[in-house]
Amino acid sequence: MRSPTSIVDVDRPDTWSRYKVGMCNSCAANCCTMPVEVKLPDLVRLGLVDPFEAEHEEPKQIAKRLIKMKMIEHFNFKNCIFTLNRKSNGDCHYLDTTTRRCTVYENRPSTCKLHPQVGPKPGFCPYGRSV
Ligand code: SF4
Repeated sequence: MRSPTSIVDVDRPDTWSRYKVGMCNSCAANCCTMPVEVKLPDLVRLGLVDPFEAEHEEPKQIAKRLIKMKMIEHFNFKNCIFTLNRKSNGDCHYLDTTTRRCTVYENRPSTCKLHPQVGPKPGFCPYGRSV
């Protein structure tokens, strides 16, 4: 997986840094290269599923459509959790390659809003200075 600095490895929380307010401003958005698990309301907010479909369509059918569209890469049937698809370099589909900023920030999934308070290592993040 992509990692712009030599010491941080997004897959190894033991290499992460303790989160401090403001550090996102100089980060290369490494957290946006991690798998993002989302629920139906997140998909509605992102405009990938319309509210009527969310209420009346089987989640499995919705997942099939979104996998075909390459918007999600996995669906956990048991927990009704979708995993957003990523680009070939590991970036989230919604991450701007140049600015390293989220293009759907106001409507981003709850998982993203809660990071890093909730996640593999609460209070820590895979900070890596942007180059
Ligand atoms: S939706 Fe936005 S905040 Fe969440 S991982 Fe993608 S680019 Fe990052």
